[in-house]
Amino acid sequence: MDKKYRFSIWYFLLAFWLLIMLQELYFASKHLDEVPYSQFKSWVLEGKVAEVAISDTKINGKLKTETEGAEPHWFQTVRVEDPDLVRLLEENDVEFAGVIVSTLWKDVASWVIPILIFAALWFWILRRVSQGAGGGFMRVGQSKAKIYMEKDIPVRMTDVAGVEEAKEEIWEVVEFLQRPEKFTSIGGRIPKGVLLVGPPGTGKTLLARAIAGEAGVPFFSISGSEFVEMFVGVGAARVRDLFENAKGKAPCIIFIDELDALGKARGMGPMAHEEREQTLNQLLVEMDGFDPRVGVIILAATNRPEILDPALLRAGRFDRHVLVDRPDRPGREAILVLHAKNIKLDPDVKLDKIAAMTPGMVGADLANVINEAALLAVRHDRDTVRQADLEEAVERVVAGLEKKSRVLSQAERERVAHHEVGHALVAMSIPGSDPVQKISIIPRGIAALGYTMQLPTEDRFLLTRSELENKIAVLLGGRMAEVLIFGEASTGAADDLQKATNIAKRMVKDYGMSEKLGRVALEMTPQPAFLKPNEIAGDGNYSEQTAREIDQEVKQLIQNQEVRVKELLTTLKPALLGGAKRLLDQEVMTGTELQALLKEQKGEQVSSPT
Ligand code: ADP
Ligand code: MG
Ligand code: ZN
Repeated sequence: MDKKYRFSIWYFLLAFWLLIMLQELYFASKHLDEVPYSQFKSWVLEGKVAEVAISDTKINGKLKTETEGAEPHWFQTVRVEDPDLVRLLEENDVEFAGVIVSTLWKDVASWVIPILIFAALWFWILRRVSQGAGGGFMRVGQSKAKIYMEKDIPVRMTDVAGVEEAKEEIWEVVEFLQRPEKFTSIGGRIPKGVLLVGPPGTGKTLLARAIAGEAGVPFFSISGSEFVEMFVGVGAARVRDLFENAKGKAPCIIFIDELDALGKARGMGPMAHEEREQTLNQLLVEMDGFDPRVGVIILAATNRPEILDPALLRAGRFDRHVLVDRPDRPGREAILVLHAKNIKLDPDVKLDKIAAMTPGMVGADLANVINEAALLAVRHDRDTVRQADLEEAVERVVAGLEKKSRVLSQAERERVAHHEVGHALVAMSIPGSDPVQKISIIPRGIAALGYTMQLPTEDRFLLTRSELENKIAVLLGGRMAEVLIFGEASTGAADDLQKATNIAKRMVKDYGMSEKLGRVALEMTPQPAFLKPNEIAGDGNYSEQTAREIDQEVKQLIQNQEVRVKELLTTLKPALLGGAKRLLDQEVMTGTELQALLKEQKGEQVSSPT
């Protein structure tokens, strides 16, 4: 709503009110006396009336003044059908005239002004509704989801900090957009869809805009959440529009923010969401139907990749995933430095100290810290931001974050570090398990305090018995490392245990992998493919005796792995300690780094003569 317009309606009302007041004043100044016709007539007979003006409905008049210069007495009466009136006036020497317009102005105003007011109000409401936030009721049936087209985006890659890996992966996309013909002439494969995955506030939206800004191409953006609560078919039409528009402007970028809102796996959730499905299908159709060589790249962002419809992630769609993770310590420092450019810092501010204080914070949080610190400095009437301001700002932001995610104490961080290195070491030492990509003790959300990321080298559709056992072993690695180093386990292993138990249960019940129970599938309820290992399907039909045996078998399976992991980690204890120390120091560690540590230890064992 533009302010100017809102004001004009008030001007109008004010003008109207003034008009009414003036009118009142005008008539009031004449001391207009409403008198009955009979009174008027008797005044005429008494010879008191000086002059009258006669209109269709009224008679206005003035009484004779007794003394010269006195206020005249004006009066008005309703005209009555009286054929004798003219004769009567003549006989009594009254000046008279027929007046047509004497009250016309007032009469007209009395109906024109209300009409004007209503028209103005109506017009105003219409304007308001059509420009108002989100469209409103007058535009039912039209999409709430707006396509934004921006040219000349001022954001550059240098405005994004602390997510260097993601930026590196993204550069190729920028280069392609700058010179699509260079890529096509070589015949290189161009990514069609790039999915930016990462926690909220890590700079996914920023990165997408930076790509467009850097490449100097138009940026079409639309948010997945705007598709929700729309009418069937509208979202699909919007998607079609979006691609139609974008193709005309190639090379360009299409950015779908919050892809998860519309890309949820089909058939998931309490109701099959007709509209969302149609929109999603349309998106898939459009993605399949265009050739990336025209120079359109589709970017999407999500912080919940696990709920996305698998169809979206298939080859030729969003097949390139870029992890935009929480920044590590140097990363946080880089982000702080970047945002601190806009404020005046005291010369002895140490941003690296602030970076060390803020594990788990994302770019948006850090931008917030800088902003809060500036506000604090202003409140204290200083013209530079001091270290103390920044430290207080961190506390404020942490207090705000506390509900969302946790910031760990030193003792907790140590425990988490050993736990994660435990997982990683087991994964590295067991033949055939997925290589460890990254180990991190940067807290993620509420559930995970740290994580070990294993990347499968190939798609797996079948798993053998020993592979399943290996999975259980890796899951137990964290807990066993805690026991080995600290003497007892902690609640941090609950999720691992649950996953391990479920794998063991399915081995026994579904896959017939238990010697004791034999080759019998005990679970007859069909398991939907998207059911994750930690979601337990309904119980099958088997006797209580069998149930007890299943429990025993599951326990046995896990115990066997526990023994194995304990032995393994005991021999690897130096690597466990060394790895955890390194992890505590740098918060994030690559699998290669840990592998090197492990090799070092093994080398020492071999070379040291005993
Ligand atoms: P996301 O889309 O991942 O939720 P945004 O891109 O919307 O996060 O980030 C919100 C704001 O936080 C940005 O506008 C920027 O000011 C700040 N920010 C987040 N990440 C970074 C980063 N890596 N570098 C610099 N600023 C960042
Ligand atoms: Mg975003
Ligand atoms: Zn774990």
